[in-house]
Amino acid sequence: MFVLTLVLLIAALIVNRFLRKKESQFRSETEHIEEKSNLLKGSIELSKKKMVAMPVRSERMSFLFEVSQKLIELNDSEEILDFLVSVAGALFPQADNILLFLIQEKKDELNLARSLKRKDEVIKEKKGDLVDKWVLRHNQSLMIDDIMRDFRFDYNQVLAFKARDIRSFAISPLSLGETIIGTIRLESKQTSAFSLDDSRILRSICDLGTIVLERANLFKRTEELATRDSLTSLFVRDYFFQRLKEETRRAHLRKSGLGILMLDIDNFKSINDTHGHIVGDLVLKRLAKILMQSVGDSGNIVSRFGGEEFILFMVECKRDELISLGEKIRQDAQKATISYRRKKVDFTISLGAVMYPDDAKDITDLIERVDQLLYQAKRSGKNKLCTAG
Ligand code: GH3
Ligand code: MG
Ligand code: MG
Repeated sequence: MFVLTLVLLIAALIVNRFLRKKESQFRSETEHIEEKSNLLKGSIELSKKKMVAMPVRSERMSFLFEVSQKLIELNDSEEILDFLVSVAGALFPQADNILLFLIQEKKDELNLARSLKRKDEVIKEKKGDLVDKWVLRHNQSLMIDDIMRDFRFDYNQVLAFKARDIRSFAISPLSLGETIIGTIRLESKQTSAFSLDDSRILRSICDLGTIVLERANLFKRTEELATRDSLTSLFVRDYFFQRLKEETRRAHLRKSGLGILMLDIDNFKSINDTHGHIVGDLVLKRLAKILMQSVGDSGNIVSRFGGEEFILFMVECKRDELISLGEKIRQDAQKATISYRRKKVDFTISLGAVMYPDDAKDITDLIERVDQLLYQAKRSGKNKLCTAG
């Protein structure tokens, strides 16, 4: 009996063990099948997404092609910046704001140059945010799905999050090799608003944008070199006449006045003879600075006419305004002192002033008239202004 019970017990144990083994085999096979099925599900989802993205992608590719064609036609940096932001606006409708920052040449800091705002929010971070500075430092694109979960940044320090509740970002540098000129930032209040594809496309636009912006800057610099005098940086005579022609035409159409001042440094030869040509050059530079500051930046042109003679025009100007300006320039020149090797050198100027169209309607006549008036100022004692009328 005991032996039988023992045999039965052993048999039961063997059967139990066999069943357990089978069960664990079965379980691992099930797990394997489940794993496989999950993998399959994942790849089906991915394929589905790809199929949906496919037309978007090909549309984007042809759009990008058009963009590149248009971009290479542009030569003006302001137009290029406008275009880049509008392109980003069309490509990334999910972005709440698109911000383009440029590095300010001398200050080495970012400056908001363009913005496209869909919710009309105020952008306070005009000098860039923590995230833009990261892009600048690393010269790399940056994707943030959720700033609150990104270990690289303390979200409490990110102004866009604090001020506008921005959660996701895609930022790319505007760079060409080591040279960085700015950044473009896409931002959204939604988390994960931008895909890897978006980031790559943004980078392509930025790369192309940088090339054309650099080309435009180079073009502008070359043009300026041809139109500016190397000593004083004022416009050269030819450029002055070209612009004067345009502006007299415009003044004629608008029925507005245009004022011309011609000026010459008094006894300049003796300044050169007494103190040397270097001091003479410093006087020319100083006067050029006074002139530039006086005419401002609203379409008025000042030029080195030759040697120590200068000429300028003021658009939309009346005679009394022209005379006050001329008087102010005369006094500023009289007050200016050049210091060179412990020497102090003063100088004065004489001026002629004419008005278009009151004093003459033809450019040659205008110049002849203003030259006569300048000569009159010289003959009658120098350091003074003579005007017609
Ligand atoms: P006035 O009061 O009648 O104008 O007499 P001025 O001595 O100023 O005029 P003048 O025409 O006799 O002399 C002009 C001088 O300007 C002669 C020339 O050497 C000098 N000059 C012309 N261009 C330059 C320049 O680029 N640098 C320097 N240092 N001198 C120049
Ligand atoms: Mg002179
Ligand atoms: Mg002269």
